[in-house]
Amino acid sequence: MKIHEYQARDLLRSYGVPVPPGEVITSIEQAAPAYKACVAEAGLGEGGLAVIKAQVHAGGRGKAGFVKLVRSAQEAEDAARFMLSNKMVSNQTGPEGLDVKKLIVAAGVDIAHEYYLALTTDRKTRRNVLIASAEGGVEIEQVAESNPEAIIKTPLHPLTGLQPHQARTVAFKLGFKGKQVGQAVRVMTGLAKAFLDKDCSIAEINPLILTPPTPEFPDGQVLAIDAKFNFDDNATFRHKDILALFDPAEENPAELTAHKFGLSYIALDGNIGCLVNGAGLAMATMDTIKLFGGEPANFLDVGGSASEDAVTEAFRIILSDEAVKGIMVNIFGGIMDCAVIAAGIVNAAKQIGFTVPLVVRLEGTNVEAGRKILQDAEGELPTLQTATDLGDAAEKVCGAVG
Ligand code: GDP
Ligand code: MN
Repeated sequence: MKIHEYQARDLLRSYGVPVPPGEVITSIEQAAPAYKACVAEAGLGEGGLAVIKAQVHAGGRGKAGFVKLVRSAQEAEDAARFMLSNKMVSNQTGPEGLDVKKLIVAAGVDIAHEYYLALTTDRKTRRNVLIASAEGGVEIEQVAESNPEAIIKTPLHPLTGLQPHQARTVAFKLGFKGKQVGQAVRVMTGLAKAFLDKDCSIAEINPLILTPPTPEFPDGQVLAIDAKFNFDDNATFRHKDILALFDPAEENPAELTAHKFGLSYIALDGNIGCLVNGAGLAMATMDTIKLFGGEPANFLDVGGSASEDAVTEAFRIILSDEAVKGIMVNIFGGIMDCAVIAAGIVNAAKQIGFTVPLVVRLEGTNVEAGRKILQDAEGELPTLQTATDLGDAAEKVCGAVG
């Protein structure tokens, strides 16, 4: 599960990580007042620096023009108008882009240096790992490729987590000096604690910044100005506070419906809808479709039981994708009886009504009875074809789609 930056900023604050204050807005009219409130809070007036940032579940906003520094109420309003009326297209959104419905107006800060900081799980070492770099701000993947020595990886002990001496070592390696060291250590330990407490799959601050020296802060301040948290879906049941942050507006509507019915569905770019029971079988089905020259329109696992309700809903979801020109059903009756599954498929198909080719491959317990039910239904479902095995099914559906 993903959350918005403004939610991530709140979470960071609650773990003692300093983040500049900000306000969420949802309309152009709110931008000017929010700007004025924001600079006033910083003890400034018109001319004070603020930053307007799109709140979407994707990064790369800076380069896409969806993070803008502003110095007046007018500039704040112009930036808000641009972001709320254009789709954001970044290297993380795909060419169709994303609608922006929320923005934050936050206090702007002067930056002396940008750093990268994150916690995630390193599958190679089977440890959680703190990743830090003095080359922050930009995409870390690029740094990893062009300059891997610039990335400091610190594996964490499974029981003791991030130790203060580890955080201090990293702070020194990043080049922090004087009072900056203690501030950076506090940020790292706060981020590491949040990561563990909330069962994150990633907790990232990019950039972590150092501000230039001022009379009040002669060593500068270490602040987080962007944050990203992803959570392990298998653990959200024990984090009601995190679940409450879920924003359905950011999710694919078909995937949301699927989730409600206990289906695992992921939309893809092809034109052959797949309805399969079991994740491994779904992967094999997609591979086989590709082998016969087709392109799957989705990954869909209806689960082991493949009840009639689940199958009906699965058909609806697949057909809601206008790109779908054919459907391949691949069901293995293990504990389930193929006759029950076949009856479910036929009823669901009748209820929905098909115009696209439908190819069904059944295998497993009581398969003969299941195939008979499908054959008997061919009169009522003119686009239905039955297949003898996975290859046959993929060949038939690819042929039917053309
Ligand atoms: P992202 O592009 O989606 O990761 O958005 P970020 O929040 O990381 O912003 C992108 C870049 O905008 C940062 O790396 C900074 O260089 C710049 N930026 C963001 N906020 C501020 C700010 O308050 N002051 C200054 N000077 N630059 C900022
Ligand atoms: Mn960023």
